Amino acid sequence: MRICQLASGSKGNSIYIETEKTRILVDAGLSALQISKRLAEIGVEAESLSAVFVTHEHSDHSCGLGPLSRRYDLPIYLHSDTYKGLPKIGSITERFFDIGESFTFQDVEVIPFPITHDAIAPVGFTFESGEGKIGVATDLGIATRLVQNRLRQCCALILETNHDEEMLRDGPYPWELKQRIRSHHGHLSNKEGAALFDEVKWAGLQAVLLAHLSETNNTPQLAQQSIESVLSCQNVCQPQLIVGEPKQVSKCFELCE
Ligand SMILES: [Zn+2]
Ligand SMILES: [Zn+2]
Repeated sequence: MRICQLASGSKGNSIYIETEKTRILVDAGLSALQISKRLAEIGVEAESLSAVFVTHEHSDHSCGLGPLSRRYDLPIYLHSDTYKGLPKIGSITERFFDIGESFTFQDVEVIPFPITHDAIAPVGFTFESGEGKIGVATDLGIATRLVQNRLRQCCALILETNHDEEMLRDGPYPWELKQRIRSHHGHLSNKEGAALFDEVKWAGLQAVLLAHLSETNNTPQLAQQSIESVLSCQNVCQPQLIVGEPKQVSKCFELCE
């Protein structure tokens, strides 16, 4: 399996996952043009994609869905309530899933699991093939026990480290927005992301891709340090850390079996 964050942050999110048999995206919060350009940078033609899986309706995860679905005849897998809540993106080829129910897409077993976020039916995902399991948890206010359980035994994690708590507190955002971000339906801080990582780390974890970093209330260094502080206190695993970026494609990670 190969994974890469095409974009990450409040201006747009899209994750690329490749298995032996399929190529998928999780979210499409960039224009179809940007997505195809960024895919081309990692040697992938947008025409070769097989599907897009959607975490929630916010436009930083969904704005490219319509054009992508129509241009490349791509099925879009999402919850029916997410579909109803989508901003105007025109028609898509929709495929509905139930939260908590696993289903098979080509050589991948997909499990959408519930997360807490201020969206209609937000989900995280695990994608498991014969090569390993990948967990995706971004845009969540708290890491519930269920989220922790879903993310166990993943070979790679895409994990939210949205903000540094002090930078958010002292930063320029209005009070209401700070409250929203901090709330149980907001975003995970570096500290909370690190605590979740600490909870689910295991010997088979090869990579942690840090995601959805705020450009105003975080820095890649702070996000990385929070995970490194957990790593330095243990010898269970030494995963590679890759920070997702808003304006460019992140480093790709290839799982070794
Ligand atoms: Zn969101
Ligand atoms: Zn988001």
